[in-house]
Amino acid sequence: MVKKLEDIKGVGPQLIKQFRKHGIWSIYDLLLCVPKSYENFSLTDLKDAKHKDTITIECVISSDLSLNRYGKTPRVTFKCQIDHEMIDIVAFGKGYLVQSFKKGDQVVIKGLYNLYYHQINVSSITKPEKRTEIKPIYGLEGIYDKTITHIIHEIYQNNDDAIYEIIPEHIYQPLNYISRSQAYHKIHLPQNENDLYLSKARLKFEEAFFLQLRWMANRPNQIFREPKVYDITRVRSFIDQIPFELTKDQKDTVNDIFRDFKKNVASYRLIQGDVGSGKTIVSLLAAYAIMTAGEQVAFMAPTELLVNQHYQFFSNMIKDFNILRLTGSTKYKEKEKYDLETNHYDIVIGTHALIEDDVKFKSLGLVIIDEQHKFGVEARQQLIDKAQHKDVLYLTATPIPRTLAMILYGNSHVSAIKEKPKQRKLIDTILIDKTQIQLLIDGIRLAINQKEHVFLVVPAIHSELIGDNIDTVSEWLTKEGFNQFFILHGEQTKEKNEWSMKSFIESPGSILISTSMVEVGIDLPTATLMAIFSAERFGLAQLHQLRGRVGRSHLKSVCYLVSNGEDNERLEVLEKTQDGFKLSEFDLKQRGPGDFIGIEQSGFPNFKFLDLQHDYELLLQAQKEVLKLLDQKDFKTNPKYRYFNRFIHEDMKL
Ligand code: ADP
Ligand code: MG
Repeated sequence: MVKKLEDIKGVGPQLIKQFRKHGIWSIYDLLLCVPKSYENFSLTDLKDAKHKDTITIECVISSDLSLNRYGKTPRVTFKCQIDHEMIDIVAFGKGYLVQSFKKGDQVVIKGLYNLYYHQINVSSITKPEKRTEIKPIYGLEGIYDKTITHIIHEIYQNNDDAIYEIIPEHIYQPLNYISRSQAYHKIHLPQNENDLYLSKARLKFEEAFFLQLRWMANRPNQIFREPKVYDITRVRSFIDQIPFELTKDQKDTVNDIFRDFKKNVASYRLIQGDVGSGKTIVSLLAAYAIMTAGEQVAFMAPTELLVNQHYQFFSNMIKDFNILRLTGSTKYKEKEKYDLETNHYDIVIGTHALIEDDVKFKSLGLVIIDEQHKFGVEARQQLIDKAQHKDVLYLTATPIPRTLAMILYGNSHVSAIKEKPKQRKLIDTILIDKTQIQLLIDGIRLAINQKEHVFLVVPAIHSELIGDNIDTVSEWLTKEGFNQFFILHGEQTKEKNEWSMKSFIESPGSILISTSMVEVGIDLPTATLMAIFSAERFGLAQLHQLRGRVGRSHLKSVCYLVSNGEDNERLEVLEKTQDGFKLSEFDLKQRGPGDFIGIEQSGFPNFKFLDLQHDYELLLQAQKEVLKLLDQKDFKTNPKYRYFNRFIHEDMKL
């Protein structure tokens, strides 16, 4: 019989009322309400104690206790011996001590250490047998911590804890985790640090396990297909012709992809790589291999500009296959349609025009989606659905923290390109305000004289927003005597924007003023100066993307963040790091996982124990266990796993 809270010795109506105020209705509720923190009474080694440390020592009282006054406050002083050393003990406002202790007593003293006076200013003294090393702090208003500890003691003494196990023993025991009941016991009544460690590890694992269970159970179904029979000799000799050496991360990623191709299930892989890390060549090699296997490739990018750039790059590199470009503005001709359907074209590179119904393939074998976060889930799926074999590569320059990537995609489906090509110089990032604008003016002048390209980015087109916009910055430029600049923003026609971009690219020593439209993908080696006005109005990831438009060659580049003084801490992070992966970790810490995956579909509960940023290894371990479990043939039918199945399908909370 499960006992009620009010049946526990020492729990009266008054206390019940207080508990209810805190949402505690049952023994179970109470046990789930774990301490917010702990006061630590574990013994200090005096040799390690620093001036003004709070320390705890065990020692013998070696003088009589004398009671005197310090102003109006009673003061007790005496001496203690520890490790052959004498220490002066002073206790304010604790006159009763002279009754409780005497010379020769063994005591545990906690207090503030004065290294120079060799003195401890006491906060508490107890007999050694009464010492608990660690005192839980619950911080529930109206209820003493002592009371809670007492009640919990009572509960465990009578085996009334009613904490049932929710992970099978055969899973948690070999990993050296303790049981759920033990974990709650130890977290409320820890004897020592190790108890705390064990209980927290177990409870973290539990959270990780159920998080992984929900995500892994909903991962895409495995689709069986024949291994891809690409021509490795041809691929190798193609690699030999690349005008640069691939970085180690690029090589590793290519190997990951080729390993996927050899399997008998269709693969999907997320390739995370900072701006300019060289994802395109990696995807090109994947595409090339698939074409040597006699299958077609669809490559989708979010803007025409990017499609054109990729088309150029692919056409320069690949001479032995036929490449089709398909965007909203290139008319899809009957002949091309026929040629695609009959396998004349080996690869088609396009915008989301690719998902139109009349774009049909003969044998689509690989889908590549560049800057995948720019597409909606539906657009991606529509394209993937066209592939009979559904091998997919997702490329993204907005890395998500590695823990999230592992959870969302599964550990074996993520590759990261962290290392940048060798000759890249770091971009100087400089945070300035309007009083230092001359720095920027000088910078622009220098860049233009050297026939380099300058980007100026603003958060708005007109002055509907406080802050800088296209209008104000164009006026400012004119006033400063710059006259060759082009403008790009969403209110101009597509033709006008394309013209702007093209003219900008073709005119070395010119300036482009733009909204954040220019964010994605464009690779212009001679771009060396980026200035972002009202930088505080942009997200961290977005600022990093914008910065990535420069620093794309051996030329030294600068990024100015022009701020109006708000939120500078965030901008300073950007000044200090150019590692998109680190920035994403910072975003995760600041804003939580919802920002990366959409709050409403996130399915991430608030964790009590788990830390998404730091518990990578533990999450990985949980993922392995969950995958093993899900792969069991009887997982859906065995009553043993009913609880898990309900958890997966019924949106049940733990
Ligand atoms: P992103 O990862 O942002 O898509 P790109 O694939 O556009 O980056 O690569 C940026 C530039 O770096 C391109 O001009 C590309 O040719 C070049 N590049 C890629 N890999 C290397 C490498 N290993 N060594 C030198 N340059 C490289
Ligand atoms: Mg790219």
